[in-house]
Amino acid sequence: MEYISTRNKNLNFGFKDVFLRGLAPDGGLFIPKKIKTYNESELNDLSTMSYVELATEIISNFCSPEIEKNKLNKLINKSYKNFTTKNVIQIKKIGDINLVELYHGPTLAFKDVAMQVIGNMYDELKVFSEKKINIVVATSGDTGSAAISALNDRKNINVFVLHPHNKISNIQRKIMTTIGSSNIYNIAIKGTFDDCQKIVKDMFSENSFREKINMSAVNSINWARIVCQVVYYFYSSFKFQNKKINFSVPTGNFGDIYAGYVAKKMGLPIKKLIVATNENDILQRVINSGEYKPSKVKPSLSPSMDVQVSSNFERLLFDVLNKDDKKVSNLMSNLLSKGSFKLSSEEVNIIKKDFCAEKTSDKETLEIIKNFSDKYNFILDPHTATAVGAAKKIKDDSETLILSTAHPYKFLETIKMATLKEIKIPSQLSNTLDKKEKYDILENKISDVKSYILERINEN
Ligand SMILES: *Cc1c(COP(=O)(O)O)cnc(C)c1O
Repeated sequence: MEYISTRNKNLNFGFKDVFLRGLAPDGGLFIPKKIKTYNESELNDLSTMSYVELATEIISNFCSPEIEKNKLNKLINKSYKNFTTKNVIQIKKIGDINLVELYHGPTLAFKDVAMQVIGNMYDELKVFSEKKINIVVATSGDTGSAAISALNDRKNINVFVLHPHNKISNIQRKIMTTIGSSNIYNIAIKGTFDDCQKIVKDMFSENSFREKINMSAVNSINWARIVCQVVYYFYSSFKFQNKKINFSVPTGNFGDIYAGYVAKKMGLPIKKLIVATNENDILQRVINSGEYKPSKVKPSLSPSMDVQVSSNFERLLFDVLNKDDKKVSNLMSNLLSKGSFKLSSEEVNIIKKDFCAEKTSDKETLEIIKNFSDKYNFILDPHTATAVGAAKKIKDDSETLILSTAHPYKFLETIKMATLKEIKIPSQLSNTLDKKEKYDILENKISDVKSYILERINEN
């Protein structure tokens, strides 16, 4: 599979490069030159497979020849061994709502589904045996712990995780800062997730620094993560055979919902992808009005969605602008110099063919959680609640599947506030939460983060 950059179609890369770099050298995002599409009879064949078989089929389109199919199959099988459900995800009907639970991995959010595979891909691609590598990752709360769980205790690797100080839930922070061994460094940045993401992106764009520390990224801009997430769109929609369905997706960096769009491009009959946002509603605004204008991040009850610079949106833009890499580059430089860009009404209409978007406020989120608890004795996490809220606002008679992205225990305080109920601690956490937390607090300055990393690397 060959890949290009959204900002330059003439740059060509193979999967290993795409996997290790995360971001293209010109600051653009990697996308495959061509995407495999399945016809109806192929879809029928796929629909009978187990989750691991299906994942092997779909993912192998994107990582051959670098990873052979039979090796990929073993790798995926191993990756999902420590999930608490047999087929990785669980589909549940609660009242009139269909939930697709994606949080049965070791750190209780959907990020595990891709990250566990990615950890093993590093091994398969023999990255560590070549040279020590340093992974730097920004997290809005859940990517960090998923990356630590996937990369802990591997040889020849350090992981530096940047999270926004005091802007994630206590349990999110505790999981992240207690499960890592000596190769893991947690950094709390005095800023927002957007600040953390900018530091990582800027370090990447600095060639000399990136090469000096042999830096790699596992952020949600990494194509390998998107690809692993495509699988559960197929798997869950096969359970609703022959129906054209909607997916409602709690959205932050536009990675998860973009995976749904890729699934649709591959031939999966999806009707609408519903972008659910909280008060950080940049995506809701761009989809409804065409104006892409990041504003200040507002902390909310669904912190993993507190994102204003939704990086993966650039991949959709590339398609919407008819694969015009120069146009994408121009819009991105406008964003940098003027703080915004505006799409034409024709371009907005192209987006609206596949997507719609709704915002759910914190107040509505609490009401939805309370309602579910009262009516069905079932606890939703606040991110999932925004997707329930968005789905209810869309007038549409097709079946809608709600992606449930995190276990409610991660947001204990919010659940208590909404329902006055306690939740039982999930088995995955029973041995971690009492341990001593390990993290350092740094100013929102790239120079401070760089010195921190260099000091730690030189220590060992
Ligand atoms: C990361 C995350 C999201 C947002 O996913 P994106 O791919 O960034 O859009 C939603 N919910 C939870 C619980 C998350 O951890």
